[in-house]
Amino acid sequence: MCGFISIFGPPGSDVIHDVINGLVAIQHRGQDAAGVVAFKDKFQAKKGLGLVREVFQDKHLQRLKGHMAVGHVRYPTVGLGEDTDVQPFWLDYPVGVVMAHNGNVTNFHELKRTYFGERKITLGSNCDLEVVLYVFADALMRRKTASLNIDDVEAGVKEVFEKVKGAYSVCGVTQEGLYAFRDPFGIKPCIFGKKETPDGTFYAVASESVVLDVAGYEIVRDLAAGEMLWIGADRVPQFRQVGKAPHRPCIFEYVYFARPDTFLDGVSVHEARMEMGRRMATRFKETGLKADAVIPVPESARTAAQTMAEGLGLPCREGFVKNRYVGRTFIMPNDKARQATIRAKLNPIRAEFEGKAVIIMDDSIVRGNTSRHMVKIARAMGAAKVYFASYSPPLLYPCLYGIDMATKREFIARDRTDEEIAKELGADAVVYQTVEQMEEAVRASSKTDLKFCKACFEGTYPTGDITEEMLGDIEQDRVAAGSCK
Ligand code: AMP
Repeated sequence: MCGFISIFGPPGSDVIHDVINGLVAIQHRGQDAAGVVAFKDKFQAKKGLGLVREVFQDKHLQRLKGHMAVGHVRYPTVGLGEDTDVQPFWLDYPVGVVMAHNGNVTNFHELKRTYFGERKITLGSNCDLEVVLYVFADALMRRKTASLNIDDVEAGVKEVFEKVKGAYSVCGVTQEGLYAFRDPFGIKPCIFGKKETPDGTFYAVASESVVLDVAGYEIVRDLAAGEMLWIGADRVPQFRQVGKAPHRPCIFEYVYFARPDTFLDGVSVHEARMEMGRRMATRFKETGLKADAVIPVPESARTAAQTMAEGLGLPCREGFVKNRYVGRTFIMPNDKARQATIRAKLNPIRAEFEGKAVIIMDDSIVRGNTSRHMVKIARAMGAAKVYFASYSPPLLYPCLYGIDMATKREFIARDRTDEEIAKELGADAVVYQTVEQMEEAVRASSKTDLKFCKACFEGTYPTGDITEEMLGDIEQDRVAAGSCK
C-alpha cells in the first residue's frame, strides 16, 4: 500500500506545503520512504527513505517551488525496498511527465521480459510504477503533439489499460497540467478535490479524502473505476471513462488500511467499522459465551470494539497502551524481529484484565503474531478467560494488488478450524466476522450496492489474470528474501 497526492495550483502559486501536509495525513499508508517532485520551469525532486518529516527539511521545501507537485509515501510490498524505488518517478524526455501510484502491477515481470526486453529498455528500478510510466509516456510520444490535450492523455491511459495488469491508482502532472486515472476495476482509491482562493482554484488528487480535509480542499468526487481526469492549460477538469470493467474496490481498506476519518467511494470508513463492530456483537452472542469487557488492539480496532461492546451491553476498555514511536511490525524483515517489536509496542494495564473474561478485538489476524502475544499478555495479567475477536473474516489468500499480507502458508487461518486457531493463539475461543457480514456492514453505511475485491478472504481475484504459478512465484520471492518461513 502507498499513498499519493498531486496538486495543480494557479500560476505563480506554491503547493509544496499542501503536499507535505497531505503526505503527513496519509503517513499510515507508507512509512518506508517519501518523495515529492515539483514543477516550476523544470522538475525538481526530493526523495528519501523514512517518514515524511525525516525526509523533508526546510531547505528542501525552499527548493521545491512551483504550482504543480506530486508527493508519495511508500510501503514496500515485497522485501525492504531500495532508495532507487522511491516515488514519484519522472521523465524530462520525450515528454515531461511525473507519476506516482498506489497498487501493484501483476504482470510486471512479464512486461520487463516482453515489452521492455524487445525494445532493449533496461528499467532503472524494481518499482512497478516504472513500467506504467514508460508505457504511458511511449503512447504520448507517438502522438507527437506540441502541447498535451485530453486525447493524448486518454491514448496514454488506454495503452496502460491494455498492457498493464493489476491494481493501480495513478496521479501525476505534466508540464501542462494534472492527470489521474484509476485501474479498470478501481481496486485502489483515488479522490479529486478543489480549493477556491482569491488567487484562483487549486486542484488536488489523493489516495484518501483526509488529505483534502487537512489541506483545506473540498471533495469533488472519487474517480470511477477505469476513469481518467485531465486538467490542462485551460484549467477545466475533464473526465473520460476509459476502462469498462466492474468496480471492485478493496474491502480491506475499510477494515484496516484507511484512516477512520476518510471517505472511500463515498463510504465513511468510521461508519463501516462501526457497522462491522455491531455485527460482531451478534456473532459473539451466537457463541453463547459470556464476557466482562471488550478490549481493542490499538489503533484500527477501536471504532469496531466500541460498537461491539455497545451491542453486548459491555464496557469497552483500553487495556493496551501503544508506543507509537515503535516501528511497524508488519514490515519487519522476519518473524523474530516482528515478535520482538510487538512486545515493545503494546503494554498492558493489569486492572483491565485481572479476574475478568475479556474479548480482545483486532481488525484482522494474519500470521497470528499480534493476537498470540495479546492473549499471552492478557493471561499474564490474570484474565479469567480470553476470547479473541477479529472484525474481518479469516485471511486466507495473498493480496496481489498491493497490500502486503503473507503467503498462503503463513496465514494462521489456512487449513485450520476456529478451534484449532484458538488453540494456536492460546485463546479460549476465537470469533471471526463472516464475509457476508463484513460486506453488508460496508454497504449498510454507504446505502449503495458496492461490490468489493475480497480476494484475500475468498481467493477470487477480480482482474482474472492471477495464476497458481504467480502465487507460487511470490511465495518463492518472499522465502528468498527471508520475509517468511
Ligand atoms: P499478525 O500479527 O501477523 O496476525 O497481523 C495482524 C496485525 O497486523 C493486526 O493487528 C492488524 O492490525 C495488522 N495488519 C493486518 N494487515 C496488515 C497489513 N497488510 N499491513 C500492516 N499491518 C497489518
